Formats: sequence, C-alpha cells, structure tokens
Amino acid sequence: MKYIDEYRDINVVTALSKRIHEVAKHSWNIMEICGGQTHSIMKYNLTSFLPPKISLIHGPGCPVCVTPLEKIDKALALASNSRVIFTSFGDMLRVPGSQGDLLKAKANGADVRTVYSPLDALKIATDNLSKEIVFFAIGFETTAPVNALSVIQAQKQNIKNYSVLSSHVLVPPAMELILSSPDNRVNAFLAAGHVCTVMGYRQYHSIAARYKTPIAITGFEPVDVLQGILSVVTQLENNTALVKNEYARIVTEEGNENAQETLWRVFETSDQTWRGIGTIPKSGLRIRKEFQAYDAELKFDLTGIKSTESANCIAGQILQGKLKPYQCNEFGKACTPENPKGAPMVSHEGACSAYFRFQNI
Ligand code: SF4
Repeated sequence: MKYIDEYRDINVVTALSKRIHEVAKHSWNIMEICGGQTHSIMKYNLTSFLPPKISLIHGPGCPVCVTPLEKIDKALALASNSRVIFTSFGDMLRVPGSQGDLLKAKANGADVRTVYSPLDALKIATDNLSKEIVFFAIGFETTAPVNALSVIQAQKQNIKNYSVLSSHVLVPPAMELILSSPDNRVNAFLAAGHVCTVMGYRQYHSIAARYKTPIAITGFEPVDVLQGILSVVTQLENNTALVKNEYARIVTEEGNENAQETLWRVFETSDQTWRGIGTIPKSGLRIRKEFQAYDAELKFDLTGIKSTESANCIAGQILQGKLKPYQCNEFGKACTPENPKGAPMVSHEGACSAYFRFQNI
C-alpha cells in the first residue's frame, strides 16, 4: 500500500469490518486518543462499520482544546502589549479566553500574526528588532521539537527579542490519568500515530502491562483506524494487553531520536494543567533554566490575570470521554464553528467540531 487512496479503499474497509464483527464477542469501549482520528471516524462514519458491541470514546488528543484557559488569557495579555508582535498557529486565534479571543484582539488593533512554523516567528524577530516577538508554542510531543529548535536557533543567533509562551502536553500521563480514574470505562487505546512518530512507543509498554490495557499505535485513514480497532479487539477477546504497532509504515519503536534530543535539550517535564481536565502530574513541558531568557512567562509581567471558564461549556467531560458533544446544550445552537463557545468547536481536531461538520450522530 503506497498511496492514501488505498487506505480509504472500501473493499479493504469492508473486509476489516467483517473481521471485527467475527472477532468481537463482548462489549468493549475503545478510546482513540487523537483528534485527527476522531475527525476520520466522523468524516467516514466508521462507527457504521463496527458491531454495536464496540463503542468508540473520543480522547483528549486535540492540542488546541486542552491548552489551559490561563494560557489563552496570558496570550491575550501579551497580544495587547504594544511592544509585542504575537505569533501563533491559526487555530489558536479563535479559541475563547475569559475575555474574547486573539482574533478579536487583532481586530482591536493588536499585532497578532498567523505563522506556519516558529521559525517564521524567528524571522519576524530578526526583521523587527524594535519589537518583542512572542510565539504561542502549544501542542503535543509532535510540535515540541520544532518549537525547541526555534529557541536553540534564537540562542545561537543571539536573537534577544524572541520568546515563546509554552503550553506543551504529553500523551502517556493523560492515558494513565484516564485508566486510573475510578469511573474509567476505557478497555483499550488507539494511540496517536503522529506522536509515536516522534517519540516512539517504548513508554507505552509499561502502561499496557500496568493497567492490563491493549494499545494499538494507529494512523488516521479509515483502514488505519479499523486496523487499530481489530488489533485491540483481538487482544481484548484473547485476554492479552500488549502494544501493537499498526502504523508501521511511519512509526518505529524508538521514534525520531534527533527530534527527541532537540526537545529534551530545551524542555523538561513539569506538571501541566489541561483545559477542562485539571492538572496532570508530569504531563507538560517547561523551558529549562539554560533557555529561560526565551520564556515569555518570565520575560513579561503576566501576574494578576483572572481566568473564568464558561459555565455552559462541558468540554472537560467531552475530553475525558464522559459525554458526547451532542449532549451539550450549546451544541449547534449557541456554539457552532462560526461562533465557538469552547475550544473543541474551534479546531478541526476538536470533537465538537467533528460532530458538527459530519453530523453522524
Ligand atoms: S458544543 Fe461548544 S459549548 Fe458545548 S462542549 Fe462543545 S465547545 Fe463547549
């Protein structure tokens, strides 16, 4: 299989579906970690290829969705500083903070710019020496290496007017939090293929063994997702709990060691708040002492910001797989992709957005 179309081939999808029906004898709840997988499940209506015994639970793998409200409010405070050019990936501009979003700040005169890479932000810094350039460094293990690289480059090139507002999250501690919850319903995980592309999957063996929970490293196309489901259902029915790499065309056990080396040079693990979930020990990344000159939270005075979450948004429960988007009173009414009330309706990887766009409910 070389081309994307082959991973959407209805004959292969149907054959996998048939096999899952044959194998599944009991009821199982399977959580797909990644918002990209949720998007694929909704877009291709993959639940219609599964027996009713198999339930898919959407996990917290949308980086935009889990960026804590306090960080969005800090981003808004930085953007409103006339000395600052605030740079960010486009998705973050529409995520609601306590008082509006970055797009509204831009409309009100803040210099907020969309970039496709932190290296673009670094270029803005060299072109605007009289300004402070801040990059909003969010995401999972996938984006952390290139964000780290921008800091290394800034230090190497002695660029002093660049810093990052960092809000990185790590997947394995979130999986452990879910599995150790007293009301956990998850029997197996589809792990996020792109995170494993960077980090490998050595870390997952101990999780699978400790919680007796099968994990399949899974890609994003319909065939990938169904292959991952078949893999974990087969294990569940055979009472095994191993890590299986079902995305071997991209992922290796050790991952991208150069990217990991770059990441760990700049960052170290720290406790991290996940929006709607709370603080998860050692689930985030903070900038190491050697690079603190590039930490926007230390460079600027961001004290005294008060953050207030919307009372009507149930994103936290959706991100933990406890409720579905259509169970939110705001879904499709007050909250739509054009007028999002919470982060999961903003990002394409957000569950609310995926349900709204594809409406397979
Ligand atoms: S539909 Fe909107 S308000 Fe409701 S949980 Fe999703 S993002 Fe929040």
